[in-house]
Amino acid sequence: MSLLVDNIGELVTNVPGAGEGGPLGIRRRAAVLVEEGEVAWVGPAADAPAADGRIDAAGAAVLPGFVDSHAHLVFAGDRAAEFAARMAGEPYTGGGIRTTVGATRAASDGELRATVRRLRAEALRQGSTTIEIKSGYGLTVADEARSLRIAAEVTGETTFLGAHVVPAEYADRPDEYVGLVCGPMLAAAAPYARWIDVFCERGAFDADHARAILTCGQAVGLDVRVHANQLGHGPGVRLGVELGAASVDHCTHLTDADIDALASTRFDCMCHEGGHTTTVATLLPGAEFSTRSPYPDARRLLDAGVTVALATDCNPGSSYTSSMPFCLALAVREMGMTPAEAVWSATAGGARALRRDDVGVLRPGARADLIILDAPSHLHLAYRPGVPLVRQVLHNGVPR
Ligand SMILES: [Zn+2]
Repeated sequence: MSLLVDNIGELVTNVPGAGEGGPLGIRRRAAVLVEEGEVAWVGPAADAPAADGRIDAAGAAVLPGFVDSHAHLVFAGDRAAEFAARMAGEPYTGGGIRTTVGATRAASDGELRATVRRLRAEALRQGSTTIEIKSGYGLTVADEARSLRIAAEVTGETTFLGAHVVPAEYADRPDEYVGLVCGPMLAAAAPYARWIDVFCERGAFDADHARAILTCGQAVGLDVRVHANQLGHGPGVRLGVELGAASVDHCTHLTDADIDALASTRFDCMCHEGGHTTTVATLLPGAEFSTRSPYPDARRLLDAGVTVALATDCNPGSSYTSSMPFCLALAVREMGMTPAEAVWSATAGGARALRRDDVGVLRPGARADLIILDAPSHLHLAYRPGVPLVRQVLHNGVPR
C-alpha cells in the first residue's frame, strides 16, 4: 500500500538546500509519497506520482514528527501536591524523586505498562513519533530491569538511569550503591537499554561516581547521555563531552568553559550549515516551567555553534507534560530561539541527540513519521501556544 500526502501548503523537510528557510528546507505546494513505512518520494504536488491512498492536507503545513529525546515514562503515582507546594513557594530540590521510587516499586507490571502506554499515546497524539524513555524510578536490580523491559515494548530508545538518585536505603553508603549500579543492575538492565544516563548534580551523583557509572555502561556497549547542570553549575556538561556523550541534558547553568567544551565537539556536516556538535545540548524548558526556575539560554548556545535539541523531560515530578509543542513555544518565548530554530531542535535536533538520521527529516528513505498541522505554517506552533494544532500524525507511514 502506498499513500500520498498531497496538497501540502508548507512542507518542512529539514533537508537544507531542498527549499527555503535554511536548515528547515521548506517546500511550498508539495506532496510526500509513503511506502512500507518509509518516505518514498518528496516533490511538487503537481508532479506527485499515483498512490493507493491519498490524504489531502488542504494547504496545511506538514512537518517531520517530533523527536522527544528525553522522557521518564515508567513510574507510578503522581506528585500534584508537590507541584502545588512549589507553586506556593517551596523550592525544588529533586528529593521528590524518592516519592516516585516508592510508588513505582509497589506497582505491578500491568500498572507500569498502562502508564507507559497511556503517556506514549498522549505524546503521539501531540506529534511525537519518536520518544526516548528512561528507567530510574526502580533503583533495584529487578525494578530497573522491568522498567526498561516495559519501556522497550514501545520504543527502541531506552535509557538505563539507575543513577537517578541514591535510594533511601543506600543514603549513607553511596559508594556501595554505585557498585550495585555498575555491577548487577547494569547487567540486568543492559539487554533492554540502548543508552546509559546519570543525574550528575549536587545531591545526586558527583563527577567521580558519574564517570565510573557511565564508563561501565560504555564497556557493555551502551552509549552515553547525561543529566547535567540543571540545578546549578557543575561538572556534568564537561564530563559528557569528555566521554563523547550524544547529549547533555538540561544545561540550565552553564559557564563559558562548559559552552567552549560543547563547541569544541563541532564537525562539518552537509546537513546543517555551520556543522553540528557531536555532543548536543538538550534543553528541557518544561522543567523550568514546572519548577518556576530560570530558563536555559538557548541563544548563547546557538551563537556558540552548539547543536541544540528540545525535549519534554516528561516525568511526574518536575515536568509532567508530554507536549513538544508546549516546550517549543516556551523555547521561543523564554529562551531566545526563533520559531524556525525551535522547530528544527524539536525534530532534527532531537534526532541528533539520539544519533539518528532516519527520523526528524523528510527525505526518501527516512521513516514516514510526519505531522499535519491545523495551520498554514510551522510558525503557528509558537505563535498559537496551547492550541491543539496537530491535526493528524503518520507514524511509520500509518495514519493515527
Ligand atoms: Zn530527566
